[in-house]
Amino acid sequence: MLDTAACRDMMEYVADGIISNEAMLTEADKMGDADHGAGMALGFSKVKEALAGKEFSDLKVLFSSCGTSIMMNSGGASGAVFGTLFRDGGAALKECTVLDAPAFSAFLDAALAGVMKRGKASPGDKTMVDALFPAAEAARGCTCTNIAEVMQAAADAAEQGSESTKTMTPKAGRMRSLGERALGHTDPGSITMNLILKYMHQFVLQR
Ligand code: ADP
Ligand code: MG
Repeated sequence: MLDTAACRDMMEYVADGIISNEAMLTEADKMGDADHGAGMALGFSKVKEALAGKEFSDLKVLFSSCGTSIMMNSGGASGAVFGTLFRDGGAALKECTVLDAPAFSAFLDAALAGVMKRGKASPGDKTMVDALFPAAEAARGCTCTNIAEVMQAAADAAEQGSESTKTMTPKAGRMRSLGERALGHTDPGSITMNLILKYMHQFVLQR
């Protein structure tokens, strides 16, 4: 399990990881307008600024701060979507100061509900929901009590979900206009969703 300070360090690690993937995410959004890498890199650099040297009273305050930084700086659909992910996910952790397996699952469930409410995308629409939905499901169904194992289950499910977007035609966001031309391409937001969970898991493994 992770206390509030460890979660802050984890989010700094996630932010560095996303920033280091800017070029790859730009490339992934070439079928769209190629702004996903820059938007995420800017948003997560502001996350780092918001977290640096700070102490947080609970995980809601911590994750909300991350979400607000992304929402206000990333721009595009993904600014709203990934901002909502952290804000609504964090709202499930009010007065919670320890991220353990059940808290992580509650975070993903609330994040998923918030993103689906805000963006109105369903699984199969070729968005980051195709990575987040199976990740939340995997965490919910995971019988393990160890935070690293739950994160691994979520990250693995997100990776498979992201991969599955290759065979989908987009039904939400600006990609919708691409129709069948998007076949064979992985949805960029689903890659970011997978990376966020992958870096969370990596952080927990190596601490
Ligand atoms: P934009 O589409 O405005 O250029 P980005 O390129 O930064 O924004 O982000 C695109 C990603 O946002 C998509 O790959 C998709 O995963 C995600 N996305 C777009 N619309 C939605 C939506 N309605 N619900 C969930 N995710 C969405
Ligand atoms: Mg874009």
